[in-house]
Amino acid sequence: MTFVINQGCCKDSSCIPVCPVQCIRPRPGDPDFTTAEQLYIDPATCIDCGACMDECPVNAIDSEFDLSEESADYLDINAEYFAANPIAESLPPDLVYRKLPAGRAELSVAIVGSGPAACYAAGELSDIKGVTVSMFERLPTPFGLVRAGVAPDHPRTKQIANRFGSVLARPGVHCFFNTEVGRDISIDELLEHHHAVLWAGGADDDRRLGIPGEELPGCFSAREFVAWYNGHPDFTGHRFDLTGRRAVVLGNGNVALDAARVLARPVGALEPTDIAPHAVELLGASRIEDVVVAARRGPEHAAYSTGELLALDSTEGVALRAVPGEADSLAGRTDRQAAVVQAAVVRAAGRESGGADGGERTITLRYGLTPVSVNGDGAVESVTFRRADGSTETIETSFVLRAVGYRGRSVAGLPFDDVTGTLPHRSGAVYDPESGMPVVGVYCAGWIKRGANGMIGSNRTDSAETVEALLDDLAGGRLTDPVHDVEHLAQLVSERNPDVVDKHAWTRIDQAERRLGREAGRARVKLVSVAELLAASRVTS
Ligand code: SF4
Repeated sequence: MTFVINQGCCKDSSCIPVCPVQCIRPRPGDPDFTTAEQLYIDPATCIDCGACMDECPVNAIDSEFDLSEESADYLDINAEYFAANPIAESLPPDLVYRKLPAGRAELSVAIVGSGPAACYAAGELSDIKGVTVSMFERLPTPFGLVRAGVAPDHPRTKQIANRFGSVLARPGVHCFFNTEVGRDISIDELLEHHHAVLWAGGADDDRRLGIPGEELPGCFSAREFVAWYNGHPDFTGHRFDLTGRRAVVLGNGNVALDAARVLARPVGALEPTDIAPHAVELLGASRIEDVVVAARRGPEHAAYSTGELLALDSTEGVALRAVPGEADSLAGRTDRQAAVVQAAVVRAAGRESGGADGGERTITLRYGLTPVSVNGDGAVESVTFRRADGSTETIETSFVLRAVGYRGRSVAGLPFDDVTGTLPHRSGAVYDPESGMPVVGVYCAGWIKRGANGMIGSNRTDSAETVEALLDDLAGGRLTDPVHDVEHLAQLVSERNPDVVDKHAWTRIDQAERRLGREAGRARVKLVSVAELLAASRVTS
């Protein structure tokens, strides 16, 4: 018997160090670690101990005997990785037990943000004796895109929040939520209270298509739509018109598939999840019958993962369609993962001419369509595409989502690379590109460091690299000792912002949402306005 990594692997890599025979690849630092779609287990080496399964934060590992029908292909997908990439050696992993450099007994770091990169950095740092972390978050709730980006019908992926929650609970971690750096406290003030500031604020802007009409009412970024259905307080008041018959999603990544699935699934399937109540209401009244997911290139270039496509293919109440001929670019590929994708697309193409069954909504995968304009007189009426042969096609729709990627915003007082939407850095240490000099004490991690790519778990190695750079600078005497301590900081913040939410207040919000969920038979009922969240944070009985 072997264990198998299947759909939903987040590449967090927690499983790698616990494997006694080191048969999980690729490992952080391996040449293909960043490009691999997921991690894989070598069936020839696995000794069936199950240690990896216990460690996986998103339950993406099963014994081969427990694989669902939907995941059966993953047995071969795992094995094929090792046929192409045989294990050359079986060295133990680089288990790094970090400690402060000789002569240093203390280190304090302010982390800005509370999403995956911030939580992984806080975990790395607070593992070290003598380190304290202050975590700052603009919203009253932590976890960034785990809360406001992961689709509500992906509860396994959201389980990573449990692991992040245990980091926040550590005694050396202090939380300052509902507190905005730049408004309530400046970066310079943070540096007066800490040795370093680690910016992990993510990417909260969108890439643009750069075509006429993308500003028309009815054309939105998928980021806004995703944040809205996930109950992000900034987007609760957004209004989406779902009264048309067709939606068009422009893009070919997991966000595009998530948005399409949420638009197409029967609302009854979403209701038990933690989707925002206002989204249940609007999606329940939606008249959309077909969601077109339009990609510029063929399925071999799709940025969505194989698991996401397979899950879509087997989503109850949704008929997946494609257009015969548009998926031919995969025909020459022989690897299992491509074959699985092609099989799904070919199955979808086979349904092209048939109608949706029993009133099911359809998701139609289209390939080779480059959007050239969003058209309409005062609001979206259609999108025009150009094909590779130069011909054009216009698809009528009143609702368009641009799912072409997130983008970082500049941070006041820090250098910014406007082309990549990131902070200029060397291994996570921010520097000024004009002078080439480091911005002393300032570091970055996550999407604002590497751009908006990778999975939740990709942030683990990213944050570890930044922590390593920070510790190097501490060892080299390149950091300035703070002039105030954390108690002084807490007093300063609460004087300026009496509504600061600490970790105990966040726990009260968390418990209130879970309690509302239990009462409603749902995973959680999210509170979706800052006022509601703050009210829940103050209820102590
Ligand atoms: Fe390694 Fe045990 Fe997981 Fe097999 S089951 S991959 S031996 S940790």
